[in-house]
Amino acid sequence: APAAARLCSGAGGEAAAAGGDGALLRHLCRKVRASGPVTVAEYMREALTNPAQGYYTRRGGIGESGDFITSPEISQVFGELIGIWYISEWMAMGKPNTFQLVELGPGRGTLTEDILRVFNQLSSVLSKCDVSVHLVEVSPKLGEIQARMLTGGKVQPSPGDESAYMKGISKTGIPIFWYRDIQDVPSGYSFYLAHEFFDALPIHKFQRTEKGWREVLVDIDPEAPDQLRFVLSPSSTPATENFIQPEETRDHVEVCPEAGVIIQRLACRIEKDGGAALVADYGHDGTKTDTFRGFRNHKLHDVLSAPGTADLTADVDFSYLRKMTQERTTTLGPIKQREFLKNMGIDLRLQVLLQNSRDTATREQLLHSYDMLMNPENMGDCFNFFALLPHHRLLHPGKKDKPESRSPLPPVAGFNELLLK
Ligand code: SAH
Repeated sequence: APAAARLCSGAGGEAAAAGGDGALLRHLCRKVRASGPVTVAEYMREALTNPAQGYYTRRGGIGESGDFITSPEISQVFGELIGIWYISEWMAMGKPNTFQLVELGPGRGTLTEDILRVFNQLSSVLSKCDVSVHLVEVSPKLGEIQARMLTGGKVQPSPGDESAYMKGISKTGIPIFWYRDIQDVPSGYSFYLAHEFFDALPIHKFQRTEKGWREVLVDIDPEAPDQLRFVLSPSSTPATENFIQPEETRDHVEVCPEAGVIIQRLACRIEKDGGAALVADYGHDGTKTDTFRGFRNHKLHDVLSAPGTADLTADVDFSYLRKMTQERTTTLGPIKQREFLKNMGIDLRLQVLLQNSRDTATREQLLHSYDMLMNPENMGDCFNFFALLPHHRLLHPGKKDKPESRSPLPPVAGFNELLLK
């Protein structure tokens, strides 16, 4: 997942139990000895989500005392504005009488909590709408933290014949379900959310050489048998054949096929059942090269050292996501976080909160968190918002008959200024 903000959070807390017993490193070394160097994607998958030793499975250190901090953990305003985005899209799409809110990689559950608070505050608007929440989370540890945050711990494991592995009721009375995979989430009109999710998915890395493209692999360092190092594949690999575009101009490229598969699924579902997806992450539009990095205790961490004890991340390539929608949906963005939040009315929201807070400490905290989210030097510029919407959300179907007689479609909030009607 996580982020530049991790760079900003100074001292940070004590590193939690580092889990540095080296079990994952030994497991990876055994694998390399048995069948040769592994791809960066395989290394990243093991380091983050190995069922016994992965970083998210065991630690998932989000928050001030963890390894990195994310926008929803910085300010409640972030999640509130995203909640308003969904309501505004729900209204623009004609207020369907039911929708699912589907979040990928909910972390500690803070973002969902803030969104549900907005839904509750606007319950008069949503009154006739049947809302349910569906969380896609691989880490049992984070699933537990989400359950505590959102339901006060009142959850039950689902019977084996249901696709959810756990279910509960939010403090505001909305049913919540947990899944390991997006494919397990029931079909239906859905609003999808992925905040700092795609950057946690495994990437392949490629290097252009005089002999053509080679894949970067992870091998054991011959000089230090308990250390890993990067090597280049001696010849091309299936991934170099499949993932490098003939027109590629960069010399080093990262590709995240799993992100492509998930975006494709979201696009298919939105095309078929309706809804929208909001993706927020740091990333680029197909221009950056080497962005793979690690974070531990709010500091940069060598990606190959002590796997499983640090968060690993790579910038999201939005141009690749756009391509993988295969034009099943319209895409908007990426636009910078500070532009999106400004369009969503963050300045007005800040003014209201400042007026309502009496003590200086709270005011200072509000101004500080605003600066973290909005300042280009913090998260304002490097984070982006990107959306998938059904084509008909932006374009009247069948444009042949008298387009001038139709009412104009409302602009999409966030990507344009928010119109409150
Ligand atoms: N959205 C949260 C958390 C980001 S951390 C926030 O912004 O604070 C990334 C999240 O994705 C974690 O919850 C992690 O456990 C989850 N995750 C990572 N890989 C996953 C995968 N393959 N499938 C589902 N969830 C995954």
